[in-house]
Amino acid sequence: MSWCLKCNIGYEDHVKKCPSCQGKLVNNPETEKGEDITKLCNVASLQDAHMIKSLLGASNIPVLFKSKGSGEYLQIIAGANYQGFDIYVPVSSLNEAREIMTKADEDIPMEDVENVEADMEAVQLNALDTNVKQRNRLMLYIIFILFIGIPLVSAFIWYIMNMMDNKL
Ligand SMILES: [Zn+2]
Repeated sequence: MSWCLKCNIGYEDHVKKCPSCQGKLVNNPETEKGEDITKLCNVASLQDAHMIKSLLGASNIPVLFKSKGSGEYLQIIAGANYQGFDIYVPVSSLNEAREIMTKADEDIPMEDVENVEADMEAVQLNALDTNVKQRNRLMLYIIFILFIGIPLVSAFIWYIMNMMDNKL
């Protein structure tokens, strides 16, 4: 396995130069502390790999990627590396890294996303409901004025006129 320690990306043995920075690749990769590394997981895209790197980097865990096949060039051209990226961490940090990854998953559970969407739908339905209720109330007012208000006013006017007629 050939590694670019500058980019923290590993390539197949036959790759001699880092496709990203043109730097020299070294064999038998070691982290800054000179510890042995072990595979943590595999991710589909370089974006995911960088996300994990920054996530673990916040806890001072060094992260190395290994891209398979044509390396990062394929990733950039095709948008996703067919075989993905293997993520490596120091053996001594493996358990901590796994805990961080598990915790990160819990922080953004898919359930919550669905709940938020369901809430949004409920709010929209409520707004629709309120609109319908307001329209119904307006119709009630119109019906009230047409069938009760107008005859009542007419009857009152007729009554007044009758009174005046009687006086005259
Ligand atoms: Zn490089």
